[in-house]
Parts: sequence; C-alpha cells; structure tokens
Amino acid sequence: MELQRRVNLKPYNTLSLNVEAAYFVAINCLDDLRQARKFCHDKCCPWLLIGGGSNLVLTQDFEGLVMLMAMDQVFWPVEKEKQSISKTFSVNAQAGYEWDLLVAESVARGASGLENLSLIPGQVGAAPIQNIGAYGVELKHCLELVQVFNFDTGDTFELAAKDCEFGYRDSVFKRNRSWIVTQVQFSLTYGNQPQVSYGIIADTIMSLSGELAANASPQQVRDAVIHIRRSKLPDPKKVPNVGSFFKNPIVSDSQKQKLAQQWPGLVAYAIDGKGHKLAAGWLIDQLGWKGFKQGDVGVHEHQALVLVCSGVATGKDVLDLAQTIKVDVAKKFGVTLEVEPRLFDNRGEFYL
Ligand code: FAD
Ligand code: NAP
Repeated sequence: MELQRRVNLKPYNTLSLNVEAAYFVAINCLDDLRQARKFCHDKCCPWLLIGGGSNLVLTQDFEGLVMLMAMDQVFWPVEKEKQSISKTFSVNAQAGYEWDLLVAESVARGASGLENLSLIPGQVGAAPIQNIGAYGVELKHCLELVQVFNFDTGDTFELAAKDCEFGYRDSVFKRNRSWIVTQVQFSLTYGNQPQVSYGIIADTIMSLSGELAANASPQQVRDAVIHIRRSKLPDPKKVPNVGSFFKNPIVSDSQKQKLAQQWPGLVAYAIDGKGHKLAAGWLIDQLGWKGFKQGDVGVHEHQALVLVCSGVATGKDVLDLAQTIKVDVAKKFGVTLEVEPRLFDNRGEFYL
C-alpha cells in the first residue's frame, strides 16, 4: 500500500471540487484494504472510499484516509464457440472496473442485460450502492452476487441479490456504511431482449437504425441510449456535475390526484400499488429554475434535475443552491425532494 499525504481530490470527483485528503491511497487488492483498515484503526481516523466520484459532494478537506478503488479486473467466461441465443452466463468484475466499459464489452459480445444502463459514469463497485437505474432498467435486474469487505471487522463475505434489499436508488449498502463492494457478478443473456418501455428509446432506435424496437439488438439499444444521453446531459469532463441532484419523489395516489388537478401537466408514473413517482425535473422546471445561473453554480439548461458548476465552485455553493430549490419545491408543491448524491464534510457523511 502506497500512502500519500495531502492529496488534492479535484481530479477524483466529477463536480471538480477543490478539497484535500489528509491521507490518500489507491486500493489495488484486498490486502491493501486490510492495511488501510489497520492504518485508520491505529490513527483513529475516518475513512472514505471513492470510485469514479460521480455521485458525491465533498464540502471540506477530509481529515482522514481517502481510498481510491483501483481493483480493476474483469472475468469473462471462456467462449470456445459461437454462443447460442438465449444462453445465460455470468461475468464477474472487480469494483474498480469502469462501469460503461463493462456495458460496452457485454454489448460487443452480443449479450443483453446492461445496455439500457449505458454511459452512466463511475465504477462497477458503486453500481449496487444506489442500484443504478435508467430507461426502465435497474442494476438489480441482472445482478447475481456481490463480494464485500467489512471495513469495521475486516471480514469478507458474499451477498446474493435477494439480500441486497434493492429499491429505487437504494440498497442494503446505504444502511451498512462499512461494507465495501470488492466484486460484482452479473447474469447476462446472449441475443436480443430489448427493454424499451421508455418510449423515447423506441423512437430513437427507429430514427437511428430504422429498426423496430421489438427487434433491436443490445448494440442498437446502447446506441440509442448514448444518443439521447449526449443530447440532454452535460459531460462531467466538460461541465462539472453529478447527474440528477434529487431523486424522483414518490407520493400517494391521493396526493398525486390533488397535484394533477392543480397542475394539469404534472408528469407522474404509477408504481404498482405504491403510489406515484413524480418527475422531480418537471417540478423544478415549473418553478423556472432550468438554465438558472448564479456565480459558479447553476441548473443545466436541458435538464432541471442536474446542477452544474464552473470548476471553481465549492461544495457549499452547490448545496446552497440545492437547498434553495428544495425549499422552493416544498413551498409550491408540498413535496419534499431528497438529495441523490452522497454528501461528505471533513470527517464523514452528512445529510441535507
Ligand atoms: P462515487 O461517486 O465514487 O461514490 C458514490 C458513493 O458510493 C460514495 O458514498 C462512495 O463511498 C460509495 N462507493 C463507491 N464505490 C464503492 C464500493 N466499491 N463499495 C462501497 N461503497 C462504494 N446514476 C444512476 O443511477 N442512473 C443514471 O442514469 C445516472 N446518470 C448519471 C449521469 C451523469 C452525467 C453523472 C455525473 C452521474 C450519473 N449517475 C447516474 C450517478 C452516478 O454516476 C452513479 O451513482 C454511479 O454508480 C456512481 O459511481 P462512482 O464510482 O462514481 O461512485
Ligand atoms: P426523462 O426521460 O426526462 O424522464 C423524466 C423522469 O420521468 C425520469 O426521471 C424517469 O424516472 C421518469 N420516466 C420517464 N419515462 C418513464 C416511463 N415510461 N416509465 C416510468 N418512468 C418514466 O429523464 P432524463 O432525466 O432524461 O433521464 C433519463 C433516464 O436516465 C432516467 O431513467 C433517469 O433516471 C436516468 N438518469 C439518471 C441520472 C442520475 O444521476 N441518477 C442522471 C441522468 C439520467 P426514472 O428516473 O425513475 O427512470
């Protein structure tokens, strides 16, 4: 383990926040995690694990050890002959493997399962933490097994998908902060199994390739998702952001009805017997926030759910804007928005 002192974290978070870690180490293997655990124990210092840094807001210099997940092996099954359609297989990827590379490689093999989750930034290990989701597919649909290192006890164990308590942008990992994901096993299927419940996917497949969505290959779905995302979402390498800043709020059927009477254009989706999901971006947009700019922070011009900053903004600047929007939405719609990215100060996580 190669420990460094006073490391700037700007390159390691997609908001480009300029904060320092008192101690910093890249985690290349399980033994690095064991040594890092001993270091934190001996020094009595807090720790923070960073993957791609695309879902966190760092508001202060961190007084403990920041670990950068760098275990980046992937284990594809050995294929001796052309695989038959509908054959299911497992692939294992270590936590530090780049998420979208895994998606691209699965699609290149003609495998279905991950294509709707194309172009989501970050690493494989972070994907189960909030059960990443996009365009009608969530990670839980193809995850089989997670390998975990418990930073409190030093134990390692495996967790089957059914024990991960996956929900909307939620999992058991959010309630067990000392569990570090070290490897994930996915179940994929050869052949076309397009998930095209989001109408925009079907329309884009048709306009890009002339193919009917029902026949689309994983590559055609991936191309459509990438096309849509590039047209709507800012590239964090050019415009610092962490994607959606708020989760879509879930409200009861009666609250949805009341809101729909008052706001006829309300964008809401029924969730089987569990009320309605409101499009948080639509709520924020109605209040005129889209394209808003103040100092070094603002709201993206094409998607009101994405807060953007200039590269010199502080975490506090970003959270001040988020809080103002949250208060505005609560006042106007009576709906409480929940922040999606994880927030950290000098010693650990906190909540807005
Ligand atoms: P980080 O930001 O590094 O970490 C996030 C949290 O997970 C932190 O608390 C960290 O400590 C913890 N963590 C990271 N790795 C591990 C690990 N191995 N074990 C335990 N804890 C860990 N999300 C979606 O769900 N759907 C989207 O469509 C989507 N689109 C996005 C688009 C853009 C432009 C951006 C910037 C973000 C988007 N996101 C989306 C959010 C984000 O990319 C995902 O949540 C992603 O999984 C975060 O991965 P990361 O490696 O960057 O995690
Ligand atoms: P969008 O297409 O403008 O849709 C707005 C919201 O309505 C989405 O958040 C989506 O909820 C919901 N929605 C749309 N069509 C739906 C359908 N047919 N059934 C159920 N719900 C539907 O959203 P967008 O901002 O461009 O994002 C597109 C997809 O990428 C979404 O799935 C979104 O979650 C994902 N994304 C996530 C992040 C992130 O950081 N978390 C960032 C960018 C994009 P869901 O969000 O529940 O899907």
